[in-house]
Amino acid sequence: MKSNLKLSELNSLVKGKSVEESFKILINLYPDGLIFTTSFGFEDQVITHIIFQNNFPIKVVTLDTGRLFPETYKVFSETVNKYKKKIIVFFPEYTSIEKMVTEKGPFSFYYSKENRLECCRLRKVVPLNRALEDKTCWISGIRSDQSDNRSMMSRLEYDEEKQLFKFHPLFHWTFTDVEDYIKKNDIPYNPLHDKGFVSIGCEPCTRAVTDGEDFRSGRWWWEYDGQKECGCHLK
Ligand code: SF4
Repeated sequence: MKSNLKLSELNSLVKGKSVEESFKILINLYPDGLIFTTSFGFEDQVITHIIFQNNFPIKVVTLDTGRLFPETYKVFSETVNKYKKKIIVFFPEYTSIEKMVTEKGPFSFYYSKENRLECCRLRKVVPLNRALEDKTCWISGIRSDQSDNRSMMSRLEYDEEKQLFKFHPLFHWTFTDVEDYIKKNDIPYNPLHDKGFVSIGCEPCTRAVTDGEDFRSGRWWWEYDGQKECGCHLK
């Protein structure tokens, strides 16, 4: 589904609005066009809670790369059990993973950035693009203070390559805002957050960070070029 609205027009509609108010506006405009991708991190759990508690008709999707932490599967299960709602799973295309792992082994991503990007593309970006097909607005849990790269983004954007709006409803929330909301609403969360993990992705590519380190510094820490994105949120 494509939109007739320009980014500036849509921006003026959601500017200054709460998460719930913004969702209502977007649902009214694009009843079947909204999708939210969750990786079950703190921010994603807040958004999932808001969608499910309000019965918003937003498709909630997760990308199972096959390399996630057991703790992530646990919070996935707890979330489904709590809200009694479906989270739709997208897996990678299995023949491409079989070929990559057969040719390069199970830890190819440690040996070169090219290999890492290949693995992220096959396990995340390709399934993501499949999930986003026919959608008009992609909702994510990105916050502006998570990294330098993310601070350059906006609460509402237009992705020319994917041809859809991207809405980050918690963009201006602080980490404390998110943490307080989780506690106040008794929302299930990944216990790895209590062990110093902030941005939680695949198990072999995520580690805990220490106080003062960048939010994304626990991802692909063996790469030193400062780019800490998997390709999902890059244009
Ligand atoms: Fe592969 Fe690591 Fe990317 Fe996961 S984060 S898709 S294991 S390279």
